[in-house]
Amino acid sequence: MRRKEVRPLLLLLTAAACLLLMGGCKENVVQEETRAPATVSPALIQQAAPAATAPRPTPTPAPSPPPVPASTIPTTGRTAYLTFDDGPSDHTDRILDILKQDDVRATFFVNGNATPEGIRLYRRIAAEGHAIGNHTYSHSYARIYASVQAYKADTEKLNDLLERAVGFRPDMLRFPGGSNNRLADKAGGKGIMRRIIGSMEAEGYSYVDWNVSSTDAAQAVQPTAEIVGAVLGSSRGKRQIIVLMHDAAGKTTTVEALPAIIDGLKNQGFRFDKLSRHSFAFRFADARTGATPP
Ligand SMILES: [Zn+2]
Repeated sequence: MRRKEVRPLLLLLTAAACLLLMGGCKENVVQEETRAPATVSPALIQQAAPAATAPRPTPTPAPSPPPVPASTIPTTGRTAYLTFDDGPSDHTDRILDILKQDDVRATFFVNGNATPEGIRLYRRIAAEGHAIGNHTYSHSYARIYASVQAYKADTEKLNDLLERAVGFRPDMLRFPGGSNNRLADKAGGKGIMRRIIGSMEAEGYSYVDWNVSSTDAAQAVQPTAEIVGAVLGSSRGKRQIIVLMHDAAGKTTTVEALPAIIDGLKNQGFRFDKLSRHSFAFRFADARTGATPP
């Protein structure tokens, strides 16, 4: 029995000794740890010093390359081009307010409005960085599609007004009704659209249709939810979208839908840009031949 008692006692003693040693060691470690910052800090400071200066070379490459036009930057993500036809209208200010708030640039395919209010709105559109395209002065199918000369005259009339208002003549067109509309034939005969397109392109104009319709022209007042759903639904699966919307009297729900459209497209990974003759273009004629990707 006694022997059996001695062993645990010995074990206890060694355990105690070990604990003491470990305790001592631990204390040393703790001391070193607490001391560490004091002794290591100069080294850290030396290491930190280059780190602190490291960002210095970083700003240099950023501004050094010459500014590249946005259109030539390879598109890695998805790009949405919002377009507003038929303005300026009594909704233009509100549309511009929303775009400004969301820091979005868009494209306005405008008609003729020579009133002081019209001039003010053209100027605000341009001043806030949006693109302006020519959607004819009168938007009257019977007038503009009567002949090639009639179309050209109506377009030039608007460009004369825009030059006075904003100082430049847009070279981008959107045909009222789109480049494949059938109503033009009634005014100018079969093949009038093809002749107008050929002639306007020869004059140096480019034109663009759309590959996403907001459906806001489907009826007088299309419900807001329908507009949002149409845009977000048909945008899925497309890398680049040109969205047709209207900046026109009575199109109240287009304005109401706009914030949700912008949010929804952002959630789908789209960034926003304005159209130019060098940017993505979607033309119905090209789509028929498969020349333009969706
Ligand atoms: Zn229109």
